[in-house]
Amino acid sequence: MADFITSGTRKVGLIGWPIDHSVSPRMHNAAFRHAGLDWVYLPLPVRDDACSLREAVDGLRALGFAGANVTIPHKQNALSCVASVSDTARAVGAVNTLSVMPDDSLAGDNTDVDGFMAALWARDWSPYGGQALILGAGGAARAVVFGLAQAGCRAMAIYNRTAAKARQLAADISPFAPDIEYTVLEDLSQVLAWGAQVNLVVNATSLGMHPAVQVSPLPEGFPWRAGMWAYDLVYNPLETRFLAMARARGAICIDGLEMLLRQGAKSYEIWTRSTPDLAVMRRELYLHFNIQHS
Ligand code: NAP
Repeated sequence: MADFITSGTRKVGLIGWPIDHSVSPRMHNAAFRHAGLDWVYLPLPVRDDACSLREAVDGLRALGFAGANVTIPHKQNALSCVASVSDTARAVGAVNTLSVMPDDSLAGDNTDVDGFMAALWARDWSPYGGQALILGAGGAARAVVFGLAQAGCRAMAIYNRTAAKARQLAADISPFAPDIEYTVLEDLSQVLAWGAQVNLVVNATSLGMHPAVQVSPLPEGFPWRAGMWAYDLVYNPLETRFLAMARARGAICIDGLEMLLRQGAKSYEIWTRSTPDLAVMRRELYLHFNIQHS
């Protein structure tokens, strides 16, 4: 981010509602500043209706933006506002990154998948022959299931409060990765039974999020084992009840801040065609969430 915004400053932003508490402007602007890029990332609150979204997306072009991130509640509807869409965004059914192309058309991508997977790759996780249990079937779970399917997970079990949504998720993703075995779990006893055979468990529900921090998507009796992977997409708090239970039994834990960081870094790369300094972005996240940096 430049010291002064001029007519030459490249603009990106975050479309969502509400976005008052979003950390993305802080994270991206710190990275732009650090890289010496004359770019700025602006909060763009857009009301929760399809008409406002369409006007905002068209406005990006009119106002000379390079692109934008899209967050709740617009990720799904953004899919119909773009001229071209990546395979990832199509499979997930949601767009979180818009780019204004040289011919002024809009392209849509989804960096939640890369963001989710990048945090696993960074820890040397190996998908081969792996079996995963995914808790949730909302937008984030769709990115998780698609990412793991692409990575080569052998089998996935999905458990969601609303089982019909889990079935729909499996049906939507399976054409993109037909060799994978998808199982929809109907109750917690099946979840416990699956626990004995999986090596990665992902919480893609909002359970455990502030202020209900004592809630876990899994019961106390879940058969965590040393060396299993526990990945929570929730990042407020960082150490959720889910992760604390897994850690106490020797699981390798990944918190939601890593995905937040890495999906943002991927959007930055798409827009600027350069790699951001992850340490700078991470430091801003830690400062924002008042986390002690070790
Ligand atoms: P979403 O589309 O609204 O989905 C919410 C999910 O949580 C659904 O599966 C829902 O089940 C489940 N759920 C909500 N309340 C529940 C309850 N009381 N009991 C059982 N299940 C419940 O939201 P999302 O976008 O997928 O986000 C899910 C979580 O991931 C949020 O905490 C979000 O902050 C986090 N997230 C993190 C990142 C990151 O970068 N770290 C990125 C995206 C999302 P039903 O289908 O039955 O309603």
